[in-house]
Amino acid sequence: MGSIAENIASVRESLAKSAAAAGRPVDGVTLMAVSKTRHADELRAVAAEGIRDFGENYLQESLDKIEALADMPLVWHFIGPIQSNKTRPIAEHFDWVHSVDRDKIGRRLAEQRPAGMAPLNICLQVNISGEQSKSGCLPEQLPALAEALDGLPNLRLRGLMAIPQATDDERAQRAVFARMRALLSELQQEHPQMDTLSMGMSGDMAAAIAEGSTLVRIGTAIFGPRDYSQKS
Ligand SMILES: *Cc1c(COP(=O)(O)O)cnc(C)c1O
Repeated sequence: MGSIAENIASVRESLAKSAAAAGRPVDGVTLMAVSKTRHADELRAVAAEGIRDFGENYLQESLDKIEALADMPLVWHFIGPIQSNKTRPIAEHFDWVHSVDRDKIGRRLAEQRPAGMAPLNICLQVNISGEQSKSGCLPEQLPALAEALDGLPNLRLRGLMAIPQATDDERAQRAVFARMRALLSELQQEHPQMDTLSMGMSGDMAAAIAEGSTLVRIGTAIFGPRDYSQKS
């Protein structure tokens, strides 16, 4: 891997190629840097390349970084599993939450979002590969969950998120993402403001963009491999 600047340039190039191949405008796909386990200085280097959107999984380390980078106009996305007793700091410090997979979490976020702030954008996380251990609601639970959360004060229901089972087979990747796109399009009949498909990571970004992703979540391809032994 190269420097952070080189890595970002190469991710942007692949993103642009995939968008062009799909006949989609390049600015229809937001590039989010997934910065879990990374130090605030590394995030600053990414922000210096013009990336504004950052995704974090672990609450305590993310709050430290949000504070350390408060001088920059960044957009913070919470993308990790959520315990219901940890919703308040998420509601108070983030702009987006991608990992809402049950009614209770959405209601708590709505209640705890400070009224003076912009509404919190949320995506419903779908367990699209049907893995028992994975978080996310089942596809068949989506209509009821969307119905329960759409219209709550201080919350804006924006779309769907998934972390499919990893595979190198691009046809298999596309089949899963196509299913996500179909699920969103069904929900849009009742919830036309839903405009976001949060899908695509370092290993499956091209397939996700081909199937309509509007926001890709990229960690390794920007920062290099993660070293969890360094995590405090
Ligand atoms: C870690 C993570 C990513 C980024 O994965 P990479 O393979 O490093 O690009 C994206 N989304 C979620 C929810 C993650 O937890």
